[in-house]
Amino acid sequence: MNIGILGLGLIGGSLGFDLRCHGHYVIGVSRRPSTCEKAIALGCVDQASVDMKLLAPADVVFICTPIGLIIPKFTELITHLSKSCIITDVGSVKTPIVEGLAPQWENFIGGHPMAGTADSGIEAALRHLFVNRPYVLTPTVKTPTRAVKVMEELIAELGANIYHCSPKAHDQAVGWISHLPVMVSTSLIAACMGENDGEVLQLAQNLASSGFRDTSRVGGGNPELGVMMARYNRQALLASLQQYRYHLDELMGLIEREDWLALEEKLRFTQRVRRDFVE
Ligand code: NAP
Repeated sequence: MNIGILGLGLIGGSLGFDLRCHGHYVIGVSRRPSTCEKAIALGCVDQASVDMKLLAPADVVFICTPIGLIIPKFTELITHLSKSCIITDVGSVKTPIVEGLAPQWENFIGGHPMAGTADSGIEAALRHLFVNRPYVLTPTVKTPTRAVKVMEELIAELGANIYHCSPKAHDQAVGWISHLPVMVSTSLIAACMGENDGEVLQLAQNLASSGFRDTSRVGGGNPELGVMMARYNRQALLASLQQYRYHLDELMGLIEREDWLALEEKLRFTQRVRRDFVE
């Protein structure tokens, strides 16, 4: 198949690597000529250009730009494609994208490969990034079966595990397990920085070890990504933050009342159910 990739960065470049390995002809389009040259030199794509016309022969196009550019770039892209071309995107939030694009292109199907690293740009692209990772597809009732089948075949070639759900369910689920943890972790770091005694703060920084490293990791990540999550998944994130605040208040109440039995029960419950998320 001719596969188009619009936006040659971490995700776009990584898709290119693995799809080429499966015999597809990969055509890349990106913003900067230097990125196109690097993508060819690295072997992520067979051909690349800053000119979107290059994508005209594509059977499937993956839009892999930053999330805020997916809808504007799509509008430019569809003027160059045949109606049978399947368009998908890799954006980390699905509802605004699927609601905006599906009515305009019959063969559009939203997607989210749940893999990544803290790095970005074409140099960060990796082979086998998607192996054994979830890849969510969010077809609507109107998505043609052929488009779903073609996407499933490509995702299987990437070695990823396919999940189907509605855009809304996707956004609520990633709100809980991806976007809420960023805000919680950010609050943790900010709270520690609220220590007024400089000596104590310095001591805490020196003593911080694996527990703090684990719980602060996502709060110490890329700020643009955190803003993107809040901006495009605002409702789901606010709902999960409200629930989080409820649990913080409950914990404070238990500790204030010295209700150690109830606290232990709560900790036993979370100890038991954590494995349903991470194992
Ligand atoms: P990235 O490494 O920054 O790559 C995005 C690429 O888009 C850049 O390298 C840039 O290439 C290109 N680009 C920017 N403006 C463009 C334009 N106007 N026209 C064409 N190309 C343009 O970001 P990423 O991490 O791959 O994320 C891309 C998408 O994947 C986002 O929508 C994100 O939500 C989604 N996603 C990310 C992750 C993750 O963990 N990072 C995971 C799953 C999904 P130039 O060098 O040419 O400017």
